[in-house]
Amino acid sequence: TTAQDQAVAQDYLKIADLWKSYGDFVALKNVSLCVERGEFLCFLGPSGCGKTTLLRAIAGLDPQSRGSILQGGRDISNLPASQRDYGIVFQSYALFPNLTVARNIAFGLENTRLPRAEIAARVTELLSLVGLHDKADKYPAQLSGGQQQRVALARAIAINPGLLLLDEPLSALDAKVRVHLRHEMKELQRKLGVTTIMVTHDQEEALSMADRIVVMNHGVIEQIGTPTEIYRHPASLFVADFIGETNRIPSRFEGGAVRIGNTVLETRVPGLSDGQKVMVVVRPEDILPHGPGHEAQARPNHLPVRIAATEFLGSFWRVHLCSAGLGSVPLIANFSMNAMRRLDLAQGSDLTVELPAERVLVFAQ
Ligand code: ATP
Repeated sequence: TTAQDQAVAQDYLKIADLWKSYGDFVALKNVSLCVERGEFLCFLGPSGCGKTTLLRAIAGLDPQSRGSILQGGRDISNLPASQRDYGIVFQSYALFPNLTVARNIAFGLENTRLPRAEIAARVTELLSLVGLHDKADKYPAQLSGGQQQRVALARAIAINPGLLLLDEPLSALDAKVRVHLRHEMKELQRKLGVTTIMVTHDQEEALSMADRIVVMNHGVIEQIGTPTEIYRHPASLFVADFIGETNRIPSRFEGGAVRIGNTVLETRVPGLSDGQKVMVVVRPEDILPHGPGHEAQARPNHLPVRIAATEFLGSFWRVHLCSAGLGSVPLIANFSMNAMRRLDLAQGSDLTVELPAERVLVFAQ
């Protein structure tokens, strides 16, 4: 293969400088991204950030105002939806109520030149792939939400599309079914190797399913990265806050360091100027409790605290901390059952906590 073939194989979908306006309102601003062949990408962001708009532009359902989209090296920017190569699943399933499960799945295949027997065989294969082999002759109304969504998925992949588009496919389902189905869908995607883009506003769904996450806000991409990159190295305060839980402690960069009260924080500090306001961010599960012998005096990243309240959450304790150094800023830590027992911690206990240097994030304000 030539270098050019390889480049195409690497970037199956290439979106460059995409803009979308609705009248005066700009829903997408200068969006550029590449999706590798076989990759599972999630568009994640709060309501109204433009993720559905971006997905619909890729599908040709609501074309962009400006910019280009290449799929498999072909410029599809101005192709009508019917001439693009994708399968799509919507939140609302959108099954045909008057057709059986088998006919729903066969729908896209019936417009191809495949012989009847081959279509029937393909439908049988798809039914077992999504675990519904005994539901072929049922109607959508006779199925649960999760089962209907499996039918919609089978219908979307029936024609072996180059691209699978998922628009909040799990959000209409109840919590248990959702968690189960997201694992199933991920496994199926891996097995098929189909390049997939899913829109979701559920951070846990994105973290657990995506190879890479595209975090969006107000029509722009805030960050693209693997789930661990996004979680551990958020590019902005918005990303840090939107994904995972955070403590936010306002402070200042002074005398070459960021401090909380008298405690110096050793951390990777971005180029800051003296006196600059910063926001210190640390996740509750990253705060380490230390027992006696770990007194806080003058140790960097160690803070004397008192437990103001505790909440038992089954697999861990959520602990509210207060400290002279924090003023009125609350600090939440998640401590394991083990740590609580070992250090004999309860409401009113005094202890030292460590905010580990490699886990503390500092954002210029
Ligand atoms: P949600 O999770 O709520 O679906 P989203 O991130 O998918 O949010 P979009 O549906 O892409 O958001 O919408 C982005 C912005 O564009 C929103 O502010 C929305 O009001 C606006 N918008 C979307 N479609 C239209 C339209 N047809 N006409 C005018 N404005 C629109």
